[in-house]
Amino acid sequence: MEPAVPQPQTFDRVLSSMCTRPHPAARAAAERFLATNPGDPETYRSVAGLEQDVVDRLGEVTGLDSPHGYVASGGTEANIQAMRAARNRTEAADPNVVAPESVHFSFQKAAEVLGVDLRITPVDTDRRADPDAMADVVDADTALIVGIAGTTEYGRVDPIPALADLAADADALLHVDAAWGGFALPFTDHEWNFSHAAVDTMTIDPHKLGQAAVPAGGFLAREGATMDALAVETPYLESTSQATLTGTRSGAGVASAAAALDELWPAGYRQAYERAQANAEWVAAALTDRGFDVIDPVLPLVAVDLPEPLFDALTERGWRLARTARGELRIVCMPHVTREMLTAFVRDLDDCRSAVDGT
Ligand SMILES: *Cc1c(COP(=O)(O)O)cnc(C)c1O
Repeated sequence: MEPAVPQPQTFDRVLSSMCTRPHPAARAAAERFLATNPGDPETYRSVAGLEQDVVDRLGEVTGLDSPHGYVASGGTEANIQAMRAARNRTEAADPNVVAPESVHFSFQKAAEVLGVDLRITPVDTDRRADPDAMADVVDADTALIVGIAGTTEYGRVDPIPALADLAADADALLHVDAAWGGFALPFTDHEWNFSHAAVDTMTIDPHKLGQAAVPAGGFLAREGATMDALAVETPYLESTSQATLTGTRSGAGVASAAAALDELWPAGYRQAYERAQANAEWVAAALTDRGFDVIDPVLPLVAVDLPEPLFDALTERGWRLARTARGELRIVCMPHVTREMLTAFVRDLDDCRSAVDGT
């Protein structure tokens, strides 16, 4: 007998992931461009052209007219690069970065790699960055203020214009992490992007709500000087400098991001957001009706206080679930999450609850 070919998971019961099934055009483009390396743009010219298209499109998504940037390996790399650019541009001898406690753990990595002091401040009662609490720890050595547009745990959007004022007063740069929220926010009333405030850099990941294949993250900068601050000389390549953190990198991610943006921006993303938001509100209501404590979905992400035995019983039934640091269940309504899936999930929850309660 032939050994079985390994297969990935299906998405049928995945409620935990911030990634999703790629759009068919994005999958096809990823396959076509597997053997390319945008890290060497003079050799791999066609994928280099696609990368510029992606940056231009991401500029449209985020309200930036002449965007600078590139397709990173993900939000982690983009966040490291934002911190690196700020560190390289500041005149402070011992630079620090100020961020709310809701910040993604990639900033911990960034601070460690770059030897920068990361100052974490408490959030407000709605789990958003508190500008006053941040102002308390900002000083003359603050190089970067971080705001999150769509937090990983609760989908909250920080008050970006207020953070921009804080950054301006401190003579620091402002980075907005929209890794997950960036493809939903254009269809909401939130003020989060380059046109709403003096944002300097942004993370926005095509491989999350952008429906591109992994790995496709996005790093954007308002000024060319930010890219200059990241660039190193590249002696053995025909191109003269490189601003990315990785060297050889995935052309599949770049091409797939280009294809997804081509297919979906803006109408397809709007439709996906509206569907996902309606699903999140539906499941939030269903859980509230059952007496659970639900944290309302600002974006398509629901957090709910669920007893541990129930969480375990649902995992036993094949549901892929995630938890916040405080232990709440997180349901991320990504494009692969349908109303039918959520209905089946709630039915299983009812079943498991009777079993767990022994009623
Ligand atoms: C997912 C996420 C990241 C990290 O992105 P990766 O692509 O996993 O590296 C950073 N910030 C936020 C807000 C995220 O949700």
